[in-house]
Parts: sequence; structure tokens; C-alpha cells
Amino acid sequence: MRVILASGNENKHGEFKELLQGSKIELVYSHEKFEVEENGNSFLSNALIKAKAWSQKTGLPALADDSGIIVRALDWMPGLRSARIVEGTDNDRNEWLLAQLKDKEDRYAEYVAALALYDYKSGCAIETEARCGGEIAGGARGNSGFGYDPLFIPSGYRKTFGELPATAKLKISHRSIALYKLLYVVFHSYMIK
Ligand code: IMP
Repeated sequence: MRVILASGNENKHGEFKELLQGSKIELVYSHEKFEVEENGNSFLSNALIKAKAWSQKTGLPALADDSGIIVRALDWMPGLRSARIVEGTDNDRNEWLLAQLKDKEDRYAEYVAALALYDYKSGCAIETEARCGGEIAGGARGNSGFGYDPLFIPSGYRKTFGELPATAKLKISHRSIALYKLLYVVFHSYMIK
């Protein structure tokens, strides 16, 4: 099954490629930039918006990911605005998060990933969502991963995703668990209209 990844994010592509190795899904990655307005009010609705747009454009089933981080002490912000809460680089956003949590004892946070697989030809859609709980570190640590990874210590670990090997993140991350759920539905049932 050939599936186009509905994202220009190379970090996400790397993780999906690794996770789908040996599966029956051949992930196609487009270098062409394709802007889709993400105007949904949830991670799931945004993922479906992206998957529909990419599948319609390419004619292939499309896999989209919409993800972010939610922080309890910030009333579960930045959520849908994780990528854009501060203009600039991942570093700038990490600095912003650290400043928001200065003097806060509660450092609990969750990564959320919503996935949508949409086939324009049949109109079939599969959606899944998963979370990965953890804590925001006192400062950025490590260069692995992307985004908020240098700040995120997954529950049960002492190191951030920035410090842990990529293989550790792939075992427990929000994106991985959401993908396992999706693969379960794809391969253990049929896409029914
Ligand atoms: P999206 O491309 O609109 O889904 O934005 C996702 C944003 O959430 C990214 O730019 C990161 O800031 C954050 N994010 C989502 N997943 C991860 C992850 O696995 N590690 C670090 N940051 C993530």
C-alpha cells in the first residue's frame, strides 16, 4: 500500500519511516511544499483536514499527523498552537516554555498526536490519537529529536527525549502509539465506506 505523508516536516517523516520499516505500507514523501489551512478545533480535525487535502491533490491515500504539547500548569497550553506559539525557532519556543514555567512546581505535560489516514478515491478515513506523559525539565538537554524534545522527560525516565536514543522515543512516543493503533485498524479490519 503506497501512502503519501501529508507533511513537509522532515523530523516527522524520519520517525514514520523508521516505524513503518518492514510493514506493508510504503511511505511516499513529497518535497513539494503544500500549505493547508489548519483551521480545525482539535488535533484530530486538523489531521483529517491535512489528509483529505493531500489525498485529493496526489490521488494517493494520505497519512497526516497533527501533534503538539499540552502543559498542565499552563491550562493545557500551547496545544494546537505548539508550532506557532512563538515565531522563530524550536529553541525560541523552548525558551518561551521555560519562562512560562519559571517558579512553577507542577511541570507535568503531555505530547498528543492525532493521525488520519484518508483515501480520496474511496472516501474512507481512519483516525487515531495517543498521548505520552512526562515532565518539563528545568533546562534544555540533548540534541536528539526535534521541537520540545530537549525539554521533555517522558514518565519513568530521567533523561529528556533530546538525550535519549531515537529508538527509545520510537518505543513510547505519542506518534508511535497513534501509528500502532492505526496500523491495527488497517490490517485487522477493512476500510469500510
Ligand atoms: P504540527 O506540524 O502543526 O503538527 O506541529 C507540531 C508541533 O508540536 C511541532 O512543531 C513541535 O513544536 C510540537 N511537537 C509535536 N510532536 C513533537 C515531538 O515528537 N517532539 C517535539 N515536539 C513535538
